[in-house]
Amino acid sequence: MSIKITEKCINCGACEPECPNQAIYEGGKKWKMSDGTSLEKNKISDPTIFHFQDPIKKDIYFIVPEKCTECVGFYDQPQCIIICPVQCCILDKENYESKEKLLEKKNFLHGSM
Ligand code: SF4
Ligand code: SF4
Repeated sequence: MSIKITEKCINCGACEPECPNQAIYEGGKKWKMSDGTSLEKNKISDPTIFHFQDPIKKDIYFIVPEKCTECVGFYDQPQCIIICPVQCCILDKENYESKEKLLEKKNFLHGSM
């Protein structure tokens, strides 16, 4: 399951550098699937992975669900949930993924270690 950021976000920016997948972006910022990953152009058939995408939120920080692995493969707990001072990083129950799927996603983004 991906994590999502609620409207309670105070734009402090503390979560962004903690994310091992660079899945967190400041409101209004364009993002790329490949940012902060080991995805390499010559190995991926879908070129959109390297294209800028429109921001998901304009006024508050947002998490790209396709990049969030709940920190699986890096940490025991989602780092954004731990660090957020106003507890606005929460599980997105509409975006359920099993641990296996999250690990698959992590391996896609970074390769298996
Ligand atoms: Fe990034 Fe981990 Fe938070 Fe997902 S749970 S957005 S991977 S810090
Ligand atoms: Fe928003 Fe919490 Fe991230 Fe700060 S740590 S930017 S309040 S989600």
